Amino acid sequence: MFKELKILDESDKRLRVKSEKVTFPLSTEYKKLIKQIIKHLKYSQIEETQKKYNLRPGMGLAFVQLGIHKQIIVIVEEVEENVFENYVVINPEIVSHSVEKIAAEAGEGCLSVNREIDGHVTRYARVTIKGFDENGNELKIRAREELAIAFQHEIDHLNGILFYDRIDKNKPFLTDEEIRFI
Ligand code: ZN
Repeated sequence: MFKELKILDESDKRLRVKSEKVTFPLSTEYKKLIKQIIKHLKYSQIEETQKKYNLRPGMGLAFVQLGIHKQIIVIVEEVEENVFENYVVINPEIVSHSVEKIAAEAGEGCLSVNREIDGHVTRYARVTIKGFDENGNELKIRAREELAIAFQHEIDHLNGILFYDRIDKNKPFLTDEEIRFI
């Protein structure tokens, strides 16, 4: 059975509240919610289920987007056609990053932002993330390119930041000389 998630819209002030650290053991309620988020993100990326359930495609979600101010992020990446890699990171932190920066050429999207936003968001090309898995075991993830952008986008949510906050209002579009696009 597929139960659709109630995702907060950008107009909701709760998205601007910082999330708190999570303590272990994780509640069964949160574990259930994580499973539901993974399913939602996966279904949103598969054409058939995306249409069937009328989902907007997305690869990441933070608990704050459900109105729960806990530091939990979920990313589902399609690594090859219909093959998905799931990342669940609790209390995530960027512990190091590349000097090089990148931007998604088409701009970023967000399941809480139901409109087109013009402009490029500057992100680190590579990041190392530390955090914990659902069982409280330490995690260390190295992410690059699109996955690195996804992690930075989701960690921003935990600090009440939306991607368009990072678009330069005076110069929303970058050029090839200024940044490497992916
Ligand atoms: Zn988002």
